[in-house]
Amino acid sequence: MTPAEIATYPDYREPVCACAGYFGVDPDWLLLTHGLDEGILMMAIGLLAKDKSTDAEALIPVPAFDPYFAAAAAVGARPVLVPPLSDFGFPTEAVLASISPRTRLVFLNTPNNPTGQLVPKDAIAQIAKAAPNALVMADEAYIEFGGESFLDQLPQHRNVIVGRTFSKAYGLAGMRVGCVIAHPEALDQLRDVTPVFNMNIVAVKAMQAAIGDAEFLPRYAAEVCESRQRLYAACRRLGLQYWESAANFVLVRVGERAEALVSALAARGVHVRDRSRDPYCVGCVRITAGIRAHTDAGIAALDEVMAGSASR
Ligand SMILES: *Cc1c(COP(=O)(O)O)cnc(C)c1O
Repeated sequence: MTPAEIATYPDYREPVCACAGYFGVDPDWLLLTHGLDEGILMMAIGLLAKDKSTDAEALIPVPAFDPYFAAAAAVGARPVLVPPLSDFGFPTEAVLASISPRTRLVFLNTPNNPTGQLVPKDAIAQIAKAAPNALVMADEAYIEFGGESFLDQLPQHRNVIVGRTFSKAYGLAGMRVGCVIAHPEALDQLRDVTPVFNMNIVAVKAMQAAIGDAEFLPRYAAEVCESRQRLYAACRRLGLQYWESAANFVLVRVGERAEALVSALAARGVHVRDRSRDPYCVGCVRITAGIRAHTDAGIAALDEVMAGSASR
C-alpha cells in the first residue's frame, strides 16, 4: 500500500474487478460493502424505506440473523415472520403463502444462522418468481462451509441478490468486508443509497490478499468439516440433540441448563452462543466448529461441565 493510497479517497475499480473475477461475475454485478451487515442495511434503506407508497413488508423465515429485524425496524417496515418446519426444515410453501403485494424484501439465509440448515436452491428460485416486486436476498455468509451458491442462477433471477462476506471463511471479521451480487438493475437500488466511499482501503487490500490465497480456504473448510464431525460425536456420546450443519457451527439442545452451561464454559475460556431465546430454539446453544485445537478444547470443557451438571 502506498502513502498516496492512504492519503486519498479510494478508487474501487480494480478491487471490484478482482473480487468479481473471483466470484465469476461481471464487475457491474458486484458492490463491495462494509461487512455484509452494511449490505443488509442498504437493502432495507433502498427497498423498504424508499417505498413510501405501501406499508413495505420484509419476509423473514425464523430463526434468523438479528440484523434482518434491526434493519427492517430501523426503517419502520413490518417484518413478516415464517416459522420453520420440524427440525428446522425450510418452509417453502409457507414463505410462498406469506408473499403479499407489499413484500419488498425476503431475507433467506443459506446455510442458516443459527440452525446450519440450507435453503434449497429451487426454493429460492420459486420464491423469487412468486415475489416479482421484491428483492430476494440469499445470504450466503457461510456457504463456503458446505452449501452450493446461488450465484450461477442469478442471470435467470433478476430479483435475487447474493450476499457474501470475508468475515467467516476468510477470517477477516475485524476488517469489515462483504459484497452483494445481483443484476445491475437490482443492485442499483442499493448503490443509490450506499455511501460512495464506504470501504476502508486497508480492508480492501486485505480482501485482495484473501482472494489471492488459493490454498487457505480449502484447508480451513476441511478443518471445519472435521471439527463438525467431532462435535456431532461428542453430542451423541453426551446424549445431546443436535442438527447436522452446513455452516461452521452446530446448534445443540442442552435444555434448561443452557444459560448455566454457557457461563461454565466461558469460565473455562470456551465461548458458545446462547440461542435459547431465539424462536424455536428453546434450550439451544450454538457451538462453533473452527480449528481442531479449539474444537478439542471446547469438547473437553463440555465434557467437564456436563459431568458436573446433574440437572436436566
Ligand atoms: C456474520 C453474518 C453476516 C455479516 O457479516 P459481516 O461481518 O457484516 O460481513 C451476514 N449474515 C449472516 C447470516 C451472518 O452470520
